Amino acid sequence: MTKVNKLGQEVHFSYSQRINEAKKVFTNYVKNQPENAWTNSYSSRIYQSAFKHLGEAFKRYKEGTSKYPKLKRKKDRQSFTVYDGNGKVTIRAGKKIKIPTLGTFSLWESVPYTTASQTFTISRTGEKWFFSFSMEADKLPVHPLLDERPQEFKGIDIGIKQFATIASSEENSTISLPESIKFEQLKLAKFQWRNRQKQLGGKGQPLSKNGIKYYKKLAKYHGRITNMRRDFIEKTTTELAGEYKHVCLENLNVKGMMQNGKLAASIARQGFYEFRQRLTTKIVASGGSVVLADQWFPSSKACHNCGHIDKELTLSNRTFNCPHCGATIDRDLNAALVLSQYGEVNQKTRVGCTRNYACELEGADSPGRSRKQAAKWTLPGLS
Ligand SMILES: [Zn+2]
Repeated sequence: MTKVNKLGQEVHFSYSQRINEAKKVFTNYVKNQPENAWTNSYSSRIYQSAFKHLGEAFKRYKEGTSKYPKLKRKKDRQSFTVYDGNGKVTIRAGKKIKIPTLGTFSLWESVPYTTASQTFTISRTGEKWFFSFSMEADKLPVHPLLDERPQEFKGIDIGIKQFATIASSEENSTISLPESIKFEQLKLAKFQWRNRQKQLGGKGQPLSKNGIKYYKKLAKYHGRITNMRRDFIEKTTTELAGEYKHVCLENLNVKGMMQNGKLAASIARQGFYEFRQRLTTKIVASGGSVVLADQWFPSSKACHNCGHIDKELTLSNRTFNCPHCGATIDRDLNAALVLSQYGEVNQKTRVGCTRNYACELEGADSPGRSRKQAAKWTLPGLS
């Protein structure tokens, strides 16, 4: 798209100008077509926010933080966002919620205190509908037992040798990947090795019969490992959230690390990203706080004792020997201790959370839906 500027030169439209143009075409032409008449029965805010999201997607693409936006298909996650034109909307404590332009709905779970939010996202999972909006997590009521958790910050270092090393000045512990997952991975590796000479097709050739069998079985192996890993991550993070109130983790650049050949497999396997997401959700939802150390903060290269940064340290050094104060300590334990200190100092930079609320919508009823199921979905952190 180009336009002519005041000097008579052709210039390109910026992304936001292009989106504004697209919005005009949608309002003045697309909406008026007889096959799109249904769009007129909904509030214009629904597509306004869709265009806003498109603009944000292009902005992220331009900044290089994400790929070129892809078209949304009907089989993808179905969701839309509405907002109130006058700013924030008050949400009263209780089980009724008034959503701008859509009306009042009953929730499965009650909102614990009166709060305010600007945007509401409505999404569908199977036959269930959910509202999500952000609220201040530190005001959420907390189970009395969870209130007894210690106030100090725990540093959690996620690593190759140990899945996680947890430390503070008081005590430290480690979590390792279960043997069963390692065993399953070995089985997968053996399976791939045994079939290394099979003619599978591919590269322009159709799949051979053996190829079809092989890939089916391979997918089964991978599915099994994924389930085991998810199970491990869910159990571990629930346990950690019950034990620790404040944690500090490294904001790992997982994508950057994946490009490093050797590390890639074990990182992908251990699901660092998933672990961090689940732990953050659970701790924040239970009234605790999570601090993510800056991506470039050298937690593994700094000394927990004197703060000296050892630039020479490489990944193969399993022990941290401080050239400044002479401290000798396990590398992962040192990193976890440094992270716990980072958490204490940077408490204000903790991350927030969004809550999902299941609701009752006409026509969205499914016979199998029970109150319990809905609650299970909405409260991953407190189950
Ligand atoms: Zn030192």
